[in-house]
Amino acid sequence: MAIRIYNTLTRRKEDFVPVTPGKVGIYSCGPTVYDYFHIGNARAFVVPDVIRRYLQYRGYDVTLVQNITDIEDKIIERAAQRGIAPQDIVDEFTEAYIEDREALGVRAPDIQPRATEHVDEMIQMIQALIDNGLAYARDGDVYYDVSKFEHYGILSNQKIDDLMAGARVGVGETKEDPLDFALWKAAKPGEPSWDSPWGPGRPGWHIECSVMSTKYLGKTFDIHTGGIDLVFPHHENEIAQSHGANGVAPVKYWVHNGFINVDGEKMAKSLGNFKTARDILAYYPGKVVRYFLMSNHYRKPVNFSDDELRMCEKALARLEDAVANAIFAASIDPDEIGEIGMAGDDTRLDAAVIEARRRFENSMDDDFNTAGAIASLHDLATALNTYVNREMPSPPDEGARAAVSRAVLAIMELGDVLGIMDASSLESAGARPGSGGDDRGEAAELGETVRGLVQLLLDVRAKAREAREFGVSDMIRDRLSEMGIVVEDTRDGARWKFEAK
Ligand SMILES: [Zn+2]
Repeated sequence: MAIRIYNTLTRRKEDFVPVTPGKVGIYSCGPTVYDYFHIGNARAFVVPDVIRRYLQYRGYDVTLVQNITDIEDKIIERAAQRGIAPQDIVDEFTEAYIEDREALGVRAPDIQPRATEHVDEMIQMIQALIDNGLAYARDGDVYYDVSKFEHYGILSNQKIDDLMAGARVGVGETKEDPLDFALWKAAKPGEPSWDSPWGPGRPGWHIECSVMSTKYLGKTFDIHTGGIDLVFPHHENEIAQSHGANGVAPVKYWVHNGFINVDGEKMAKSLGNFKTARDILAYYPGKVVRYFLMSNHYRKPVNFSDDELRMCEKALARLEDAVANAIFAASIDPDEIGEIGMAGDDTRLDAAVIEARRRFENSMDDDFNTAGAIASLHDLATALNTYVNREMPSPPDEGARAAVSRAVLAIMELGDVLGIMDASSLESAGARPGSGGDDRGEAAELGETVRGLVQLLLDVRAKAREAREFGVSDMIRDRLSEMGIVVEDTRDGARWKFEAK
């Protein structure tokens, strides 16, 4: 089945057909580095990360480009407020951005260009737009003449006349028409500036993305992502610039993620509900924040709250506990998990693995429906729990251990596509039952002993029940329960498992 992507440009889902078979170019609008990024920005960074991971899982060779906007009005304003150089603001918040991105498990882009390193190319593109009759210079500024670009409004689905009606010329602006936007801004005293054919100045924000996307991905590339708030004017202007300079539409699939509300309200500094990713990451691991983001479709608005995050934390723990319990019960050393996977007969557990993988892919193929993908992981975790607790022979034979490791591997691999399971999930799983430190061989041995002791207690309990000494049998069950070991009586005798807390 083809991957289908909702395209903001056409307002429908389309089959994904890359420009070059087997390869995908993605451009994602990156941070303007003047402050810590907020949870809404975090969504705009996580979404392309997941799209990239899934396309790689499907065998595509993906190139992800994400810019850093290191020259912009907000940076200059913030530097003036703090009485320091714009470059100091840029350095401070580029570093913070990388730290927070890593904490969110967002892998580094393949290329991360900085706007200030591409000013020459921006000047060239602006000159091309002037040469093509689409832009004009005024007193050191250069503006895009929106009325000359026949497709203006195509992305945001607006008529140019309606846009005109709402637009105003700002104080001090020299543009001919209120809709025209700045490509180049004449330098003001004390601001960073570059020489240009129109005098010293700096590029506008929109031209930065046109230049850096087409430079690294080609005049027409596959996917452009960003928050829904960037559709107009930023991305509308990007089309006008790139198409106007290069003569072709720059992007095949425009992908926009929805807003995040906080406690049911739009996030705003004035409401006191403004949440930076850094604030949230102080309380929750990045994979829990990702789980929260993944549990909603990326185009839908979502509501952030502590309750919501706590629910996600528990849900993710259920997946991790399923993996931990299975590894423990099947006496699998996390280090050997990939090696024992292929031996053994098919079981119902293998059927569950195949079904989970099929549903995961169907969900992700359908415009990256991560919520459906997560549901398939939980179904597989349930099947794994059932197998380990009720069906697996005791002690587990080679076939059982192989089937368990295949299921664990599937949860890990699919969870990794979403960025909610990684090697650390497996490590914590391996360390948990043994609690014997970092030495996993030792942990596995200790696990073996614990299993033997629990089985001994259950054998004693069975004898007690035979002798109708129910006080003794209940005491054993209750004391085990206090230690997090749940005993279940089945037709085939007592089974036990570690409780998912
Ligand atoms: Zn951009």
